[in-house]
Amino acid sequence: MEKLKAKSVTLKPGEELRLEVDFSKTVYIKLIKGNAEIFGAELGSNTYYEFSCEKFAIYTWEGCEIEIRGELSSEYTSNETPMNVYMNLHLALQQLRDKAKQQGSEGPRLLILGPTDSGKTTLCKILTNYAVKQDETPVLVNLDTSEGMVSVPGSISATCISRFISPEDGFMSYGVTGSSGKTDSPLVYHYGNSLPNKHLSLFQKLLKCLANNVNKQIETNKSAQNSGFIIDTGGHVESSSYALIDQIIDLFKVNLVLIIGNEKLYNDYIKKYNDQPNISVAKVPKSGGVVDRSSLYIQNYQNNHIKQYFYGTNSEKLQSFSKIVKISDISLYKIGQDTLAPSSTLPLGETRKISETQITKVEIDEKLSHYLVAILHLDPVTNQEKLDNNEIHIKEEDTESLLDEDLVLNSPVLGYINMQVFS
Ligand code: ADP
Repeated sequence: MEKLKAKSVTLKPGEELRLEVDFSKTVYIKLIKGNAEIFGAELGSNTYYEFSCEKFAIYTWEGCEIEIRGELSSEYTSNETPMNVYMNLHLALQQLRDKAKQQGSEGPRLLILGPTDSGKTTLCKILTNYAVKQDETPVLVNLDTSEGMVSVPGSISATCISRFISPEDGFMSYGVTGSSGKTDSPLVYHYGNSLPNKHLSLFQKLLKCLANNVNKQIETNKSAQNSGFIIDTGGHVESSSYALIDQIIDLFKVNLVLIIGNEKLYNDYIKKYNDQPNISVAKVPKSGGVVDRSSLYIQNYQNNHIKQYFYGTNSEKLQSFSKIVKISDISLYKIGQDTLAPSSTLPLGETRKISETQITKVEIDEKLSHYLVAILHLDPVTNQEKLDNNEIHIKEEDTESLLDEDLVLNSPVLGYINMQVFS
């Protein structure tokens, strides 16, 4: 790092330095003077932070001097930011949390909506970090299947956040999945695609499982109840997604809907919830710094995220290990089919044999090498209760090839493996 040429940048109060670092490049940043934050997480002084494959901003409330080492693909300073609006939003949320503590009720449950690349995830990070700074422990829910957040892309999750989302490691500082029910171990459900609409009925079932499970888990977590929820979503803005949005509002008991960068969605939702005093709808401006990401960037970002899941981040390395097992000792199941022809194309009188959510056994062969496979926790308390009450059952007629749908979909992810098959 010492070999890289260093330069210093001075920011005035209320300014932000917007930076882009390529995949193949590494940039080091150090705060020399003043104070600065990256999406709500304060930078410590005289510590190098390492960035690769990132687009981000360093914001300062009081002015600062920063040292940068390495090659940036884009860099500029702006004094037009929505940070004052975001801070006011945080203060309003904090008032609701304080009120919840006094009244022994639940804190705000905030749903953030807007198009892709409007800054939703960034706002979640900022609001979560500001909440943590005030000793809150909000539940961060990720319903954006293209992101992965604390797990791999293709999953949805809920995590009780009690420490800052690291400026350099992002959400991966929480990235070890588990379903132990410990307060800050993420609750993850496997969906397996980055587009919710691709297998909508599966996505909706998983939403329900995640919401039920997280609502149940926080019954015994007073501090998370008071701090409330911050829910990130994919780019659901078209009117065809309104039913899905309404389902999210209902399942996660959302009482505050916040819209970034889409007037139509805002107006439709203001009208929709006009006569419901328990749900407020508001809008915030999109930051001029938010970058549109190309599909190549997103693909590289997702690959990098998966790599971090297995090998850790620059500041927190993980030791992945391999285990050899006989094919005959394991069973692998698949949820639904990749593509389903519409029911209207089936011969008259025929019904679809495999639904989007049916669980079928898969033959294991070399073609499955390098597939990411989710290991599910099949017997958490909720499932056990349901099994005991005969609400769900393993199908007796063919236990080998069919598993009960509800049993599988209700099961959170213990972890992912990268599978290699040798014959
Ligand atoms: P969304 O969640 O709506 O898809 P994101 O919050 O992920 O959007 O933002 C898109 C990209 O823009 C991300 O790479 C994010 O880090 C970047 N970004 C967001 N705000 C800023 C900013 N103020 N300056 C520079 N980059 C930013």
